[in-house]
Amino acid sequence: MAINIESALVSATRALQGVSDSPRLDAELLLMFVLEVPRSHLFAHPDRELDRRDDARLRSLLERRLKHEPVAYLTGEKEFWSLSLQVTPATLVPRPETERLVEAALTLIQPNANVAVLDLGTGSGAIAIAISSERPQCHIVATDRSASALSVATANAVRHELTNISFQQGDWLEAVAGETFDIIVSNPPYIASDDTALAQLPCEPRSALASGKHGLDAIRRIAADSGRHLVSGGTLLLEHGADQQESVARILAGQNWRNIQCLSDLCGLPRVTRAMWQSPGESEVP
Ligand code: GLN
Repeated sequence: MAINIESALVSATRALQGVSDSPRLDAELLLMFVLEVPRSHLFAHPDRELDRRDDARLRSLLERRLKHEPVAYLTGEKEFWSLSLQVTPATLVPRPETERLVEAALTLIQPNANVAVLDLGTGSGAIAIAISSERPQCHIVATDRSASALSVATANAVRHELTNISFQQGDWLEAVAGETFDIIVSNPPYIASDDTALAQLPCEPRSALASGKHGLDAIRRIAADSGRHLVSGGTLLLEHGADQQESVARILAGQNWRNIQCLSDLCGLPRVTRAMWQSPGESEVP
């Protein structure tokens, strides 16, 4: 007997309970993808029956989801900052908490300001694209070590018709030799390499998630090398784990960063640290 939309959602939600924090949402997103319909269609037509092909496609996607493959890889899409982005296994799936980093960057940039922004390790391009969409006058450089990530990011910029981002390949600051910016932002890998949380994230690039014994290797490198690429008084904004606030502040303080301040995300967790660069030898910027 054919299954209808509502029953398919109920049974998919039940199946996903163990692997997902948002089983009903995942079920809806997968069914929307299979049926090629907007969400409103699921609510308007709960009695619509799935044909055998759609039912089979939904089942095969559910099987993959049960092996921890993110919904975004199954559908090829993820919404970030209200923008639909292409994502592939070459890139981290953008997380809602990273929107806090975008928000913090936007508070530093006046709407029509021509500010130079660098996004290190851009992945799908989420941060650079969100900033670009809000501040079209900015000049943004987005980097990644991975050529395949950069091609996803470039496709996302094209999709949203953003022309003020240039993409450059390279390892952290090596991608921008000789260039200087007003603001540097990054969502680097920051999970400790032996953290058991990684077992729940088997599909995303390990290099975008984990960074050494304490998860701080990439942050250390960025803290050490970013100053040379910032104007004096320029700002660095870094996302990090909720338990890394003090370590990040210590690393930054040891590298001549000033005005180090941690910002909380919507859940009240300390997830973004902001610091000001002051060229060594210069007097305090008021
Ligand atoms: N926020 C991600 C997670 O905890 C990790 C992303 C990152 O390491 N930059 O799943």
